[in-house]
Amino acid sequence: MEESRVVLVTGGSKGIGRVIAERFRDAGHRVAATYRSGGVPDGVLGLQCDITDQAQVDAAFEQVESELGPVEVLVANAGVTKDTLILRMSDEDWDQVIDTNLTGTFRVVRRAARPMTRARFGRIIMISSVVGFIGSPGQLNYAASKSGLVGMARSLTRELGSRNVTANVIAPGFIETDMTAVLPEETIKGYKARIPSGRLGSSDDVAAAALFLAGDGAGYISGAVLPVDGGLGMGH
Ligand code: NDP
Repeated sequence: MEESRVVLVTGGSKGIGRVIAERFRDAGHRVAATYRSGGVPDGVLGLQCDITDQAQVDAAFEQVESELGPVEVLVANAGVTKDTLILRMSDEDWDQVIDTNLTGTFRVVRRAARPMTRARFGRIIMISSVVGFIGSPGQLNYAASKSGLVGMARSLTRELGSRNVTANVIAPGFIETDMTAVLPEETIKGYKARIPSGRLGSSDDVAAAALFLAGDGAGYISGAVLPVDGGLGMGH
């Protein structure tokens, strides 16, 4: 039996983050999850928090600390897309995606780092994307935000590694959630043809990787990129 940890998942209202929160809860951990709209699964402490606002991030951490204890496992999952081709991409399209996916992750990681360092234990898991490695037309902002997480995880590994804090990146491929439901049928067909597994992934596929990286057996894995993409990005 793994030790029970205090886990915080950002973006736990739906999609991948919601399933990650459920699987950690089912494994006996004490789980909190942030949401902006909607809610979080039963048995999970819900925290209303927009990660583009440091004050809201700080308040969410304070609530977890007072109700469950210091965060030991952070899953930085919240993310958005604002797709359009470069010639049409506005500053606002760029800023919104970077501010949420990259700077938002920085905000939560920075807040988590001190208590983890103090406790001499921490697991930081960032949800990136295969798109950050192989690129995607119409997703310059998104791809830049997601590949940026690798530099962040590797720098964290160098800063905090000696304190038993690990930082890893999960790079999902195409996972069936609201985010991919908006893609045209033709695009999905095209992706399926390129995925060696021949199918889109599920949120459970990603949650299994997060549980592994948070687990007692993964303490010597840090600065790694774990693809969960059916082979789509092989070689990155
Ligand atoms: P969804 O759109 O289904 O869920 C996104 C989650 O992020 C929601 O809970 C949403 O909260 C939250 N969120 C968005 N912006 C903010 C914000 N500013 N502050 C706090 N929370 C926010 O997406 P997925 O589940 O598909 O994606 C989850 C992560 O996985 C993302 O980082 C995404 O980039 C990544 N990913 C997804 C892939 C896919 O194929 N689906 C592939 C590769 C990576 P709310 O709805 O309450 O606003």
